[in-house]
Amino acid sequence: MTTVKEEKLEKLDMKRDTYQLIINGRRVESTSGETFTSYNPATGEAIATIAKASREDAEKAIEAARNAFDKGKWKLFPLNKRARTLNKIASIMRSRFNELVELEILDTGKSLSAAQGQVMQAIEDFEFYAGAIVGHRGSVNNVPGQFHNYTEKEPVGVCAQIIPWNYPLMMAAWKIAPAIAVGCSVVVKPATLTPLTAICLGEICIEAGVPEGVVNIIPGAGSEVGNHLVEHPKVDKVAFTGSTPIGKDIMEKASQSLKRVTLELGGKSPNLVFEDADIEAAVDGSLFGIFYNTGQSCEARSRLYVHESIYDVFMEKFVEKAKKLQLGDPFSKETHIGAIINKGQLEVIDGYVQSAKEDGANILLGGKIAKVEGFEDGFWYEPTIISGVTHDMKAVKEEIFGPVVVVMPFSDEKEAIRLANDSEYGLGSAIWTTSHARATRVAKQIQAGIVMVNCPFSAFPGTPFGGYKQSGFGRELCIETLDLYTETKSVISYFGNRSLNPFGV
Ligand code: NAP
Ligand code: MG
Repeated sequence: MTTVKEEKLEKLDMKRDTYQLIINGRRVESTSGETFTSYNPATGEAIATIAKASREDAEKAIEAARNAFDKGKWKLFPLNKRARTLNKIASIMRSRFNELVELEILDTGKSLSAAQGQVMQAIEDFEFYAGAIVGHRGSVNNVPGQFHNYTEKEPVGVCAQIIPWNYPLMMAAWKIAPAIAVGCSVVVKPATLTPLTAICLGEICIEAGVPEGVVNIIPGAGSEVGNHLVEHPKVDKVAFTGSTPIGKDIMEKASQSLKRVTLELGGKSPNLVFEDADIEAAVDGSLFGIFYNTGQSCEARSRLYVHESIYDVFMEKFVEKAKKLQLGDPFSKETHIGAIINKGQLEVIDGYVQSAKEDGANILLGGKIAKVEGFEDGFWYEPTIISGVTHDMKAVKEEIFGPVVVVMPFSDEKEAIRLANDSEYGLGSAIWTTSHARATRVAKQIQAGIVMVNCPFSAFPGTPFGGYKQSGFGRELCIETLDLYTETKSVISYFGNRSLNPFGV
């Protein structure tokens, strides 16, 4: 039998050789003693060994979370103390900002500027919810007659939070911050490809004073650990970010015990450039919209539609500027585009590009696996622009999740809206126009959770983030998220001085 090593949680270097699970406020090895390796996608090198959680560990984490929740260790903390703890988490993260950035780059291969922005946003999420929670409260309602009604917001309970590999720390923050702000306990399952910063965030939560059992982090296979969390009767809610097929599976399984579910899923977001747009701004914003985070973004604006009257001018500039984007050392300030997460994803991306070619599309730029000097063992794809496409092509319909954009001209506003909405997804969208009326009109008709008007950015703490259609439901990063981690309790009381006798017996 394997003995379970358990150690007190002390402050360790973030970048280290081994990482454990976080269960009940402790760093622990997995019950089975099994581990797995995380790699740096830019170099292909192994960077760390991580304890691999199994069902048994999930069981222990759920038990710890349940116990913490049911005993009210955290949910009964005075609100200001909970808010102060969230701010403390943020301040520890700030003090360890460079370490978090370094670790995120090593684990994901993303560029320095992308990692810095995401770590900063993760910090600001905790600060946002530390403030937001103070204003999150129930209501007092008018009831006819001598009745009084008030509502209270109560934490929903134990939350399983399953996160993807593309924004490992930021997604963990989007989930943990609102959940613990309202008093829930969480069991977080990071993606096995990128577990490191989520583990460190769990350690920081405990260092900041979050009681044991409230935040548990258990990296392990989604099909085993993730699935166990979703099916477990003692879990009250599942918050999932990942692909649409897994999201559907989770929704079905969670229905067995009627768990609360929030799903942040895939996308194929349209980017509309109208004839009255500021062309320079639209070119720059459209480049960022698709190539940020190497295109491995759920809200990547991967379908570009340009008005036919400016199509040639726009495309010339767009391709010229895309040629200037630098692939290379993720730690360099000059690098715009980092690595692809792994070989499998690289092949998926290339498969889509090849399918577009076979379907008769034109490759205006890129279209192949890239060679990067000094990083020959990493996974790289050239920024790719594809024209001559139609909506029945696989590369236009499906999420590619890489630095690949498909481009089409359109003839008028009506057609632009029709094309934008002709997708099973509905996460992000962008509109480039100098007409306020047009921006407002088009924004109203787009079927997407997020509309960016003359703006390359899709997410700030406080702005709702989430999808329509098969991009999922529920909103993160905003005040509304707090409602998704709470139940509303309605208390009705009678204050008349004559007792009630409804049956009249
Ligand atoms: P994925 O394959 O769906 O995996 C997401 C997470 O779910 C991982 O932690 C994975 O674990 C786990 N998982 C896999 N199978 C599971 C199962 N049967 N039960 C429970 N959990 C399971 O997605 P991904 O490839 O990591 O991420 C890319 C996808 O996420 C894209 O579609 C992207 O659009 C979407 N995304 C959406 C948003 C948004 O806010 N809407 C944000 C970011 C990403 P392991 O991988 O460790 O096995
Ligand atoms: Mg990795």
